[in-house]
Amino acid sequence: MKKLFAANWKLHKTPAETRDFLRAFLPQTKTVAAEIVIFPPASSWEAAAQSFAGSANCFWGGQNVWSQAQGAFTGENSAQVLKELGGRYALVGHSERRSVFHEEPTWMSDKVAFVQGLGLTPILCIGETLAERDAGQTDAVNARQLEEGLAKAKTSQPLVVAYEPVWAIGTGRVAQPSQVAEAHAFIRRNLQEKGFEGTPILYGGSVKPENAGELLGLPDVNGFLVGGASLDPESFLKICRA
Ligand code: PEP
Repeated sequence: MKKLFAANWKLHKTPAETRDFLRAFLPQTKTVAAEIVIFPPASSWEAAAQSFAGSANCFWGGQNVWSQAQGAFTGENSAQVLKELGGRYALVGHSERRSVFHEEPTWMSDKVAFVQGLGLTPILCIGETLAERDAGQTDAVNARQLEEGLAKAKTSQPLVVAYEPVWAIGTGRVAQPSQVAEAHAFIRRNLQEKGFEGTPILYGGSVKPENAGELLGLPDVNGFLVGGASLDPESFLKICRA
């Protein structure tokens, strides 16, 4: 399976900074034998769209979109606009959306289905908190979030899952390879039981150039979702070449 490296910029990079990054980054990706996706903030979608024109293995997407085309949803991002501008992917259920913005678990399946329906690829983010891990609930949490997120998803449409233990996101505390391997094996089995064959499973949580190689060598780790270390072109390139 081709590896997939995704950059979640969160609320970083203005349109000018987005152009600067992509001007430095994109020419160097031609020799990377993987797919790369950048997730700029919505305010920089248009700048990204202009910069990506003509790139063969690099795409961009939205960090969050709503599950309906239009309506009274003040402040939300439109998946249709994302599509119109040439975006290909959308994150669904990133832990910061769940914890900071209190997104409801019941929204996830509608978002995944709506994104798939537009011909875009959802990346469903799942993962346990430290308290849940300590209580031995890691598998149960991942199973529940997969159930909630995929209830309306089509097995015939593209889908990506990102396993991101909440305690490893933005903390510098990367999960141990054995913890990542166990979680990915569980998620793979769960996806197969649901009829999702060949779904890429990304790991996310304090991935850096220094730990990328070891993690990428684990079975069922098909790429990464990277936050902090994706903000610098050289650092993200090193991860893409891991
Ligand atoms: C993320 O935002 O999805 C993420 C994994 O962040 P970081 O790499 O900074 O932990």
